[in-house]
Amino acid sequence: MSRTHRNMRFYSIRDIEDLPQLSGLPAEDRFAMRVVAHVFPFRANNYVVEELIDRSRIPDDPIFRLTFPQRDMLRSDEFDALAAAVGHGDRSAIAEIVTSIRARLNPHPAGQADDNVPLLDGQPVPGIQHKYRETVLVFPSAGQTCHAYCTYCFRWPQFVRTEALKFATDKQHTYLTYLARHREVTDVLFTGGDPLIMKADRLRAYVEPLLGPKYDHIQTIRIGTKSPAYWPHRFVDDGDADDILRLFERVVRSGKHLALMAHFSHWRELSTDIAREAVGRIRETGAVIRTQAPLIRHVNDDATVWTRMWTDQVRLGCVPYYMFVERDTGAHHYFSVPLARALDIYQAAFRRMSGIGRTARGPVMSAHPGKVLVQGVTRVAGKKAFVLSLIQARDPEQAGRVFFARYDPHATWLTELRPASSESGHQPVDHILSRDRHSDVHRVLAARRRLVLTERRTPQ
Ligand SMILES: *Cc1c(COP(=O)(O)O)cnc(C)c1O
Ligand code: SF4
Repeated sequence: MSRTHRNMRFYSIRDIEDLPQLSGLPAEDRFAMRVVAHVFPFRANNYVVEELIDRSRIPDDPIFRLTFPQRDMLRSDEFDALAAAVGHGDRSAIAEIVTSIRARLNPHPAGQADDNVPLLDGQPVPGIQHKYRETVLVFPSAGQTCHAYCTYCFRWPQFVRTEALKFATDKQHTYLTYLARHREVTDVLFTGGDPLIMKADRLRAYVEPLLGPKYDHIQTIRIGTKSPAYWPHRFVDDGDADDILRLFERVVRSGKHLALMAHFSHWRELSTDIAREAVGRIRETGAVIRTQAPLIRHVNDDATVWTRMWTDQVRLGCVPYYMFVERDTGAHHYFSVPLARALDIYQAAFRRMSGIGRTARGPVMSAHPGKVLVQGVTRVAGKKAFVLSLIQARDPEQAGRVFFARYDPHATWLTELRPASSESGHQPVDHILSRDRHSDVHRVLAARRRLVLTERRTPQ
């Protein structure tokens, strides 16, 4: 296979004026990108820009939309205020406007910061979330950036320097004690950011302890990553590429399942020789690549994109896993696709696959009560309704529960849906789920957790 070695170059807000690929854009558009990049962290790299973006198709190119900030990601009044401050170079005004915009953008959706952080001996465990009984999410402190940033990322608070919004493991790796004690946990999911931004020895320090006898109950180690898409050199010719692959082999040989939860937004990301080589090398270690991505307007809101992406993934031996609904955070108004349309796209793509390619579940909302799958549309008491099911639930007893919501062609998130049956009144459908879910014990625990966290976050 032909490929060229590449030394990584990150591009940031300062490079927007100088990138030759952007020189064809009007100066006004480049300025707009710089304005928006004050709010949403911008990072691209030379592989993304040179290999994935089709320069002749900017600004409509999907990978350009995926990685470069767009004017309409901000509300027009907010854009105008910020543009004026940026135009004047007024730093304190910029900082003030940026802070107020970010506060509006729902930085920790679905109760991530409060309700998912578990306690150990009465104290919150830094850098982990435990929402579903079987699976603990670990946010390694050195893995909280990515090789490039997705414009729609719901993890954006991880990339901006607001410590109070951040989330990462502590030096003592307290989470290991938690995992050793929690025998119900079968899966550990390293996430970020992108844990594969870490050097191999750093990653090894997180993964290897889990291969020891104290962690027999852990069956699966997952790594959430976009590296095969944004920086496939990571597995091919980066200085420690082979060390990473050897670590994967060790996990597999230890008798655990190693799953790379690979984020692919578009088939283009799998079209380069080096991306295919990266996938091949990962698979040779015995790791399984499972693929997932949100459905994003302007990037992949087209059934033919998903059909081709799943087809290419299956051919390369990857297993399609989730199609997510864009979360209600960040520039949701710009990227979101109505649930009804998301379902149409999912089903159109699904129908063109054989059973082997129908393994992705979607469209799925990762919401407060759990992961809610939009299964289809039906009629309830003569009225059109969404069929929804909880495929993951904060309360394990609720997993698999099916429920209905009034059909609404414009709704983009669970909280906008109303129950299908009239007796349930006008409450949003997720309130009904939480009312059923919350036993008294749950409520007390959640309140205590919130209290502890609030106290910790209050500045001294
Ligand atoms: C999606 C998710 C998981 C993993 O769920 P699976 O359905 O097992 O892939 C775990 N924790 C959180 C918080 C999640 O959002
Ligand atoms: S790779 Fe993942 S964590 Fe990183 S910016 Fe994209 S969506 Fe966010």
